[in-house]
Amino acid sequence: MLCFQVMTNKNKTDWNLRKLFYTSATNSKIEEDMVRGDTATKTFATKYRKDKKWLSNPKSLAKALSEYEKLELVCSPAPILYASYRKELNASDKQAEALANTLDERYTKRGNMLMFFSLELAKISPSMQKRFLKAPELTKYRYMLKVLFESAKHDLSEPEEKILSLLGDVSNGRWIQAVEDIIHTKEVSFDGKNIPVPQALEILRTLPKTKRDALHKATMKALRDIAPMAESELNAIITRKKITDELRKFEEPFDATILGYENERDSVLSMVSAVSKAFGVSKRFYKAKALLMGEKKLTYADRVAPAGTLKKKISFDEALNIVRKAFADLHPRYAEILDRLVSNGQVDVYPKKGKSGGAFCSGAVSSPTMVLLNHVDDAHSLLTLAHEMGHAIHTERSKKQQPVYQNYTTSVAETASTFFEQVAFDALTEKLTEKERLIAMHDRLQGDIVTVFRQIACFNFESDMHQAVRSKGLIPKEDIAKLMNKHMASYLGNSVELTEDDGYFFVAWSHIRRFFYVYSYAYGQLISRAMYARVKKDHSYIEKVDAFLTAGGSASPEDIFEACGLNVRSEAFFKEGLKSIERDVLEFEKAVKNVVKKAV
Ligand SMILES: [Zn+2]
Repeated sequence: MLCFQVMTNKNKTDWNLRKLFYTSATNSKIEEDMVRGDTATKTFATKYRKDKKWLSNPKSLAKALSEYEKLELVCSPAPILYASYRKELNASDKQAEALANTLDERYTKRGNMLMFFSLELAKISPSMQKRFLKAPELTKYRYMLKVLFESAKHDLSEPEEKILSLLGDVSNGRWIQAVEDIIHTKEVSFDGKNIPVPQALEILRTLPKTKRDALHKATMKALRDIAPMAESELNAIITRKKITDELRKFEEPFDATILGYENERDSVLSMVSAVSKAFGVSKRFYKAKALLMGEKKLTYADRVAPAGTLKKKISFDEALNIVRKAFADLHPRYAEILDRLVSNGQVDVYPKKGKSGGAFCSGAVSSPTMVLLNHVDDAHSLLTLAHEMGHAIHTERSKKQQPVYQNYTTSVAETASTFFEQVAFDALTEKLTEKERLIAMHDRLQGDIVTVFRQIACFNFESDMHQAVRSKGLIPKEDIAKLMNKHMASYLGNSVELTEDDGYFFVAWSHIRRFFYVYSYAYGQLISRAMYARVKKDHSYIEKVDAFLTAGGSASPEDIFEACGLNVRSEAFFKEGLKSIERDVLEFEKAVKNVVKKAV
């Protein structure tokens, strides 16, 4: 019998680095691109180091900035990105590693050569700053200058900056690395085998209750063993931050992060306050979850447990069809971006030996937007596809901006990704059975609760920890653990029982080493929820969403969202997003009660 294999699958599932970047690591085009960038950087630096008219004359500055901007286009990051993408696909690609190392040095040199430009511009007198900000010739660069002048208030002198940057790694990075290395080599015994702590934390959620609790207990004990080292590490890096904050004249521990993300302090704090006041919502969720799991009290490990497994297999082609249709319903342009990236070989779909885990989207000015996935044919993979495509759409639409504004800040990144993830989630649930829908609803809600409530509880925990170091000079590990439990209980409520050892989770929580970064998750999620609710109510609002997606980094997040009719400066706005989570929790409670009733 003759078998015909019908080729329906035209989707490319591998990155086409040969076509998009270079044919090989020895391709002469790499050197050509590097030389072009090196030469252009040198020419620019020589020219503007000599004639300093641009520091006092708006017209000359406008000319200098437009040449600076052209540099961004000429100095393509493609060579170094090519090397790093190859490493993402294969961690043991030594040729790519060698290429990355040699290129890295040249990029650093370029950066150093250009450093004078922003440093000298940042140091001009306040009256000259005002003049520049008002100058009509500089309208195109006004926001960029504003950000530069604002952060310059916290800059030190050039030699001081140099010392801080040279010592940064040994007084911060290597401490963090040391604890991470210990965690990676520490093992816990599980099912007759010894497994490393990171793997234990990773597989917890996939285990049945008894095994989950046992492994969790063993893991927390292992973390407690490492706590003396983590105590030294955290006290050192938090004290270092306190010292640099004082030198740079940052008042509060979170101020440097908020400024770095181009946010306004009041806006961020009003969100933190709104979420903290709404912890009752997450507490209700865990109460209902306990009921669903048939437990009186949940353990700390239960908080990551899914409500069941979705039997439904979703191949990549199916996932792509569902996501494409959902995106096209929003606007055809989003489905077009999706199709273009897939057919161009900009999406690497399946897990492979040596390939990095997880998923990401990466892009840069004058470089293709690349998406890496590890698709395993399930619902979670579909949502990840939509999430990363959200980042990709944001990156692609932002290319409408002039080069200096094509990059967006961290605090708006998750707004785009979670927006598209919600759209895909709704499309997915239509295809599920009622039972599966409850599982999907639970898992998604749990994800949102982590993104919003857990991250803000962590923000509050970090604040207290930094204040303790500032006022007492040191915080002992026992106190860090107690503080951690206090803040975790604040959003989990008394349906979750925390043991003394659970407090030692801080040892492994990498986010707290990126001081206050966690707020960006809650910020992004609450704004995207509000946006999606508006689109559902009035489809034409998608054009406002698109205004945000095309805005890149051309204005502050507060101003970008204001242009979409969202007043993110007010607490009331964040309450709106929280209300929508509350509505989902109510619906979940109802569904759980129905299931429990049927079971009785
Ligand atoms: Zn993301």
